Amino acid sequence: MIFFQKSADIHRYILQKRAEGSQIGFVPTMGALHAGHISLINQAKEKCDLVVCSIFVNPTQFNHASDLASYPRTIEKDMQLLLESNCDILFHPGVEDIYGNDLEKESSSDYGEFIHVLEGESRPGHFDGVVTILRKLFSIIEPNQVFFGQKDYQQCLVVDTLIRRSFPQVVFNLCLIAREQDGLAMSSRNVRLSLKERNMANQIFQSLSLIQTNWDAQNWLHGIEQAKELLLKGNFIIEYISVCNPVTLKELVRFEPKAVALVAVTLGKTRLIDNILLYWREEL
Ligand code: AMP
Repeated sequence: MIFFQKSADIHRYILQKRAEGSQIGFVPTMGALHAGHISLINQAKEKCDLVVCSIFVNPTQFNHASDLASYPRTIEKDMQLLLESNCDILFHPGVEDIYGNDLEKESSSDYGEFIHVLEGESRPGHFDGVVTILRKLFSIIEPNQVFFGQKDYQQCLVVDTLIRRSFPQVVFNLCLIAREQDGLAMSSRNVRLSLKERNMANQIFQSLSLIQTNWDAQNWLHGIEQAKELLLKGNFIIEYISVCNPVTLKELVRFEPKAVALVAVTLGKTRLIDNILLYWREEL
């Protein structure tokens, strides 16, 4: 694996590889890697000749300085995991290399209604930081294909819009959520959970599953109520649990066969998100 810290160096190297005909796959991350990230690397390996993983804890997408400061950073272990997964290139730049002295963000407010709800509402300015860093990284790496996790469903809609507007030559790949055995979505933030919280955290997926099992025109509202009740019985602070149109993220007011249920909760000091795509099939 080749390790780059300077954007000018990786840019030059990749230009050369592209000129030689290599297809470049790109997996942007903030590090503290787990099997979910590695599943993205594996999918990129299947589709591309050279896979670049970036590890950069992006300051402009955090709402609170304390969250940024306490974000887990485990670069040695991350490098080991990337080596084991045969990732070709790691890009791990410093803040100054990416931003210079100016942490200015671009605006994403005209991306559509969907940008202002859920994470957009809970974390003002978060998606501005996301599009700012991705525009910079896509311009440095110039990938043919990019790989993002459904775990951050709303982010995927944002990235899809950014690509359609500014990088139409790039292929977007949506990758399924990797889960722990008990259903908890893998996340870099899970390491912050106490043992007691970790034992409860699978109820997030259980609540989404309740919505899924009740996903038909008669029972859908009942399923959502049950999901909320389950979370309220635990020690979760619910930020939102919302069943939406999968493209517009408008909350459903009547049953639709295809939807997405999204949830954000705080457990102790840890904020966790998860989601599930819902499909109604007549035979069920
Ligand atoms: P992060 O490091 O949290 O910014 O995540 C980097 C990428 O990994 C994003 O595209 C995430 O959606 C994706 N990702 C995070 N957790 C998972 C997971 N459990 N399964 C699949 N992809 C994930």
